[in-house]
Amino acid sequence: MKKLYEYTGCIHGHSIYSDGSGTYPEIIGFAQEVRLDYLLMSDHMTLKGKEEGYGGWHDSLFVHIGYEIQDPEDQHHYLAFGIDEVLPKELTHQEYIREVEKRNALGIAAHPFEERDIKTSLPGFPPISWTTLDYSEIKVIEIWNMMSHWMEETTLKNRYWNAARPRSFAKSPKKNLMQWWDSANLSRKVTGVGSVDVHAIKVKILGIFSKAIFHYKVMFKSIRTYLLTEEPLSKENTDKQNEQIILNTIRHGRSYIANIKRGDASGFRFWMEHNDQNFQMGDEFFGDRAMLHVQLPLQGFIKIICNGKVCHIEKKSKGISIEVSPGIYRIEVKRKRRGWIYSNHIKMRDKNEQCVE
Ligand SMILES: [Zn+2]
Ligand SMILES: [Zn+2]
Repeated sequence: MKKLYEYTGCIHGHSIYSDGSGTYPEIIGFAQEVRLDYLLMSDHMTLKGKEEGYGGWHDSLFVHIGYEIQDPEDQHHYLAFGIDEVLPKELTHQEYIREVEKRNALGIAAHPFEERDIKTSLPGFPPISWTTLDYSEIKVIEIWNMMSHWMEETTLKNRYWNAARPRSFAKSPKKNLMQWWDSANLSRKVTGVGSVDVHAIKVKILGIFSKAIFHYKVMFKSIRTYLLTEEPLSKENTDKQNEQIILNTIRHGRSYIANIKRGDASGFRFWMEHNDQNFQMGDEFFGDRAMLHVQLPLQGFIKIICNGKVCHIEKKSKGISIEVSPGIYRIEVKRKRRGWIYSNHIKMRDKNEQCVE
């Protein structure tokens, strides 16, 4: 099997340059303490961190800095990476998704389908969402955003309880978003990432102490996106080359998402074998039958999803190998009834479709 290099990292962070509480040196220090391999930062409407030179290697951590775009109504948040300029503030979302695409930068639709229950949710935090994701320029979406998940799960009643356990509350990605993701992939390619959307907001407790909730270090130990790259990130490369390895891997979807509160996911593998060739997440091929393989570093409850429906379940297992027919496959793994690992898709197209074309 072709060698792949695995990197664990976090996507979507805010510093003092927008509404986060940490400076770049502090955030980089926290990321190093929890041994991230890469970190993608995205302050609102500014590339100040990049301009000040915080991108690149920091010992064994590679940092890349993009930014989070929002429209004048503060909706349709869109992460842009591999971009060198901040686009004009007055653009509509239809305009900025096109502008990001024009610059060959990577755009990621942030916290799509965010909702609130008006009766029970915390006042003062309206949902920030996307009215639709049905634009051909949207090729990558956040399927699991930790901050957004917390806001959706938190009510006036449970707010202290949930604030005290910022990682334990997390269940799994939103069902309606996963359904949209699967059905979109029937007709085009949309890859998924998991993100932390960390701010480490400082709140006053008893009006005296100022404490950061959802601290950087805590959030960096929650939802991660693991990348399987074909070439290694290297100090011999330029920063631009390393950045392209990361962004191209995300774009291709050779990656999976895990809440590491449920266990270190390093070593998870999902691939398909057809005619002595192996296909990885994000790949597409023509065939009639193939072997589907899943390997886990720890025991879990495995679901194989085909064309948006659960087609196989394996309880308490460290892996599966089964024969499958054409379809669009992805894997979900739970541990202790909570979401742990979510893969990107592998698509086996019916070889008869190829003949028609
Ligand atoms: Zn946002
Ligand atoms: Zn954000």
